[in-house]
Amino acid sequence: MSTMSTTRRTITKLIAAAALTPFSSLAKAAVNPPRKRFDVAVVGAGVFGAWTAQALHSAGLRVTLLDAFGPGNSRSSSGGESRITRSAYGDRQIYARWAADSLLAWKGLAQRTGLALFENTGVLTFVPGGDPFADESSVVLKHLGIRYEILSATETMRRFPAFRLNPTETAIYEPDAGALMARRALRALVDEMVAGGVEYRIAAVRTPSGSGKLAEVQILSGETIAADRFVFACGPWLPKVFPALLGTRIRAQRAEVFFLGVPPGSTSYLPPAMPTWIDHNGMGDAYGFPSLDNRGCKLAVDAFNNPIDPDTGDRTVTAPYIEAMRSFVRQRMPGLSDAPIVETRVCQYEYAENENYLLDRHPDFTNVWIAGGGSGHGFKNGPMVGTYVTKLVTNQELTDPLFSISATKQLAPAKM
Ligand SMILES: Cc1cc2nc3c(=O)[nH]c(=O)nc-3n(C[C@H](O)[C@H](O)[C@H](O)COP(=O)(O)OP(=O)(O)OC[C@H]3O[C@@H](n4cnc5c(N)ncnc54)[C@H](O)[C@@H]3O)c2cc1C
Repeated sequence: MSTMSTTRRTITKLIAAAALTPFSSLAKAAVNPPRKRFDVAVVGAGVFGAWTAQALHSAGLRVTLLDAFGPGNSRSSSGGESRITRSAYGDRQIYARWAADSLLAWKGLAQRTGLALFENTGVLTFVPGGDPFADESSVVLKHLGIRYEILSATETMRRFPAFRLNPTETAIYEPDAGALMARRALRALVDEMVAGGVEYRIAAVRTPSGSGKLAEVQILSGETIAADRFVFACGPWLPKVFPALLGTRIRAQRAEVFFLGVPPGSTSYLPPAMPTWIDHNGMGDAYGFPSLDNRGCKLAVDAFNNPIDPDTGDRTVTAPYIEAMRSFVRQRMPGLSDAPIVETRVCQYEYAENENYLLDRHPDFTNVWIAGGGSGHGFKNGPMVGTYVTKLVTNQELTDPLFSISATKQLAPAKM
């Protein structure tokens, strides 16, 4: 009896309280909890977006980081196990400097997290005879105080017997360069950021419409996310997100990657006997790694310009790429000619026509920036890209013409 009357009294009190609260605000609070407004929403948690979110957060801004599939996902360009960091960039000094500065940031992340995120394997860049790339790189590396050696073909083969060079070739050796453990490093960065207060969530963002000042973006669930400024760092998806602006300026290009099993009991394919390497021809026709994490020697040969859809593209390797890889290995690393393929991956580069990054404001919006166009060499420079984009977003700097959208010409449509 007494329990019954207590319950009745409680219900009466609740009804009275509800009567004092206007119904509309109660309903609103339940249906639409108060929306957070962010200083900046970063769309895309690849290496460009994640380091941008990190730099914006360090600048004191309230940041949300959104990704459709998650940082380093299998479809993303940052989603590989390893990426080269080196400063031999010919006369493109800004990339050489950014690589050196970024490496400090990667090492800092490794130190803070206690994870092996950088393998100091050294990097060899093979340069064809007569190509000014070696001399140009020399000038820049010397100017920046980065350690390097120019090796003749004979000297390269003596020190690194896994490789064959023809007598006219030279190699640039950077002893302090090496391999970033890409997916692991990106995950560590996002985990650290989340622990530090950046909001991160899985969300697929729709293409914003209109022009002028963007107030919010809509995600596939229908929810909206409001922010004062937006950065779209969607890598190979950028042509899909902004088809009118970038549909023909950035091309997602298929990259087939192989791991070759090393001979049993051999240490010839481990660092320091084998460094990381790039076969330079333009921005690099082929590149590879020693057997990191004991997974075999990873390599890719960029023999084709085949496009790929980052959402739906099939991720199994194909006969023409296998043949191009085998033919390359027979000449450059004959000891691996008959090595079995022990793992494969299919990724994609997000090529801009001039192979420069694209870091600029969207011309239709006053508060939307784009960070992309890594063009097969963006990973190493994620930290400096983040710092640079933060300066653009906070109006401390205007886009360098090198990285501007207008400097990126339209690419010829790729043949499927
Ligand atoms: C095989 C291969 C080898 C490479 N080797 C090197 C190397 O040795 N050294 C080097 O420096 N660079 C290298 N690169 C290049 C480098 O990996 C890329 O330039 C870099 O990872 C690009 O990063 P990103 O953040 O621009 O794109 P991504 O890593 O692709 O990130 C974009 C993110 O945006 C998300 N996204 C897309 N659309 C939406 C949306 N609508 N809503 C929400 N999220 C969205 C995606 O899920 C993805 O996670 C290589 C690339 C490849 C493919």
